[in-house]
Amino acid sequence: MRELRRSVLSLICCAVLVGCADAGPNPTGSANRTPALTESPAAASPTGPISPTDATSPTDATSPTRAPATASARSGTPTHPSAAPTRSSAAPVIIIDPGHSGRSIRRTEPTTGLTDFDYPNAPEMHEVYEVSTCVADGLRDLGYRVIMTKKDADDTVGLAERARIANKAKADLAISVHNDHGQNPAFQAVYSQRGIRHGDRYRPMWRGSGSNRTVFDHPAVARASARYARVIARERGAVLAAEVDVAEENFSGRAGLEPGNLALVQLLAEVPWVYNEAGALTGGSTTRRMTRAAQTAYAEGLLQGVVSAVPGPDAGTEPASPRELRSCIDRQHKL
Ligand SMILES: [Zn+2]
Repeated sequence: MRELRRSVLSLICCAVLVGCADAGPNPTGSANRTPALTESPAAASPTGPISPTDATSPTDATSPTRAPATASARSGTPTHPSAAPTRSSAAPVIIIDPGHSGRSIRRTEPTTGLTDFDYPNAPEMHEVYEVSTCVADGLRDLGYRVIMTKKDADDTVGLAERARIANKAKADLAISVHNDHGQNPAFQAVYSQRGIRHGDRYRPMWRGSGSNRTVFDHPAVARASARYARVIARERGAVLAAEVDVAEENFSGRAGLEPGNLALVQLLAEVPWVYNEAGALTGGSTTRRMTRAAQTAYAEGLLQGVVSAVPGPDAGTEPASPRELRSCIDRQHKL
C-alpha cells in the first residue's frame, strides 16, 4: 500500500522538485563509494536543541568522505563543520520556506551543476503559504526572528536562493512546508539532512551523478537537522494523534532530476533544515483544497515543533492556541 501511495505522490506534489516522500531504500545511494557514517553515541543523543557541546563534538571527525565535488568545494567556500552559531543573547532565527514558485524555474545551480527546478503547484502553494504565514506569526509573537523565503504565495524563488537566504541569515533552523494532494492525511513525514539510520550507520546525503555528484558535507548541521526533525515529527504527531514518519528521500528515477536522497534546498543549506510533507487528499479529489482544520493542525504541529526544537526567548510562554491559529488561517483566506 505504501508503495502505491508513493507512486501517486510523485505525480502530484513536488513530484520531480524537491521533497515528495519516497522513504524507501535508495539503491543508487547504497552504491555510493563514500563510506556511510558510523553512528556515534553523541549522534544518538536525545532530541533537543543544539548545545555547544553538540556543535563541536569530536564526532564531527566522522564526516563523510567527500565525493570529488561538494557544494562547498565547488564554490571555494570553506566547509563549516559546525552547526549554526548558538545565540545566547539574541532571539533564534527561523526560516520558513513555503513550497513552490509562482512561475516555473529550470536553472543550473552554478556551484554544483545540479538542476534548480520548481513550478507552480496549486492549491498546495497557497495552502502551505497560509500555514507558513500563521506559523511565522506565532513564532514572532514568541520573540523569534522569522524570515519567509517567499513574500507572497505567487512569488517565484528558486531553491538555491531559498538556501542562500537561510545561509545568509545564519538561521538556527529552516523548515520547508509542503503538502501532497495525492496522499491521504495519514501520510505525514519529515526529512532531515542526515537521513535515517540503517542499522548503526547513516548513508551519506547526496545528489547528482558524475562530476555533478555533490555530498552534503556539514556533519554537525546534519546531526542537528536530524534531531530537530525528530522533535518536529513528535510535535506534529501529537497534534494529529498519529504517527509522523522521519523518512529518507529518494530522487532516483524522477525524470529530469538528478538521483540522490536529499532535497536540493537542503543540500545547498549550511544550516539545519527540516523538510515537511503532509497528505492533503480531500474528499477524494486531488484538486480540492485541504480543510482549514487540516491547515490549522499543520500550523499547530509546526509551531510546536519549532518551539520545542529551538526554544525562543520567551520560553515558557504558551504558543498560539489552536483557536488563534484557526483565526489566522481564516484571515489568510480572506486576503
Ligand atoms: Zn510540494
